[in-house]
Amino acid sequence: MSTQPYKFDSQAADIFTREVAARSGQNINSCYQCKRCAAGCPVAEDTGMVTPNRLIRMVVLGDIESALTNKLTWKCLFCHTCGTRCPNNIKTGRIADTLKKMALDAGIDPQQPEYKNFHRAFFHYSLRHGRINEIGMMGEFQLRNMWDHLKKGNYVAIVSEIMSKSTLAWKMFKQKRLHLSFHSSKGRDEISRLYKKSAGRKWI
Ligand code: SF4
Ligand code: SF4
Repeated sequence: MSTQPYKFDSQAADIFTREVAARSGQNINSCYQCKRCAAGCPVAEDTGMVTPNRLIRMVVLGDIESALTNKLTWKCLFCHTCGTRCPNNIKTGRIADTLKKMALDAGIDPQQPEYKNFHRAFFHYSLRHGRINEIGMMGEFQLRNMWDHLKKGNYVAIVSEIMSKSTLAWKMFKQKRLHLSFHSSKGRDEISRLYKKSAGRKWI
């Protein structure tokens, strides 16, 4: 269990909660912290125990920094498990998605910069090809990570990144989970138009 206390900001709490509720379409104030959503979240163990109910807690307390930068906001799979379990029909995945967009709009980075790199690589690749090719997308993701390390002069991290990801790529290739072919979707122009219309250039 996380022992990290969230900060209460009485001035921010009401405005922030209303903003997140309006943008996500979720009735955040109806959450009574029963934690049913927490039990099924597949990434909760990898988020420093930021569970869906705790994400909501951050929002209603007005702890904007924690809400925008925590791991669940950036690692949420949008699987809707939390929403199907919630007695109040709160879809926390939509809240996480909203917070991620708010962070990007405000130029706020997640606790781990590679999360943002992953999203950027995913969207860049989707926009260009209309679908994901593992080699291309992961290659762009790794280049972005290495560029971050290079800017900090962290050459050890670059070597470590190359070693660990080469090992992972080889394992995936052996399991036939890494495809070397490059395909583009016929409707990629339409997908690109939809992305730009719904999210604007700030996503990419
Ligand atoms: S299941 Fe719903 S009401 Fe219960 S803690 Fe999660 S979001 Fe709140
Ligand atoms: S939608 Fe996100 S927050 Fe909800 S259970 Fe899935 S990963 Fe967890």
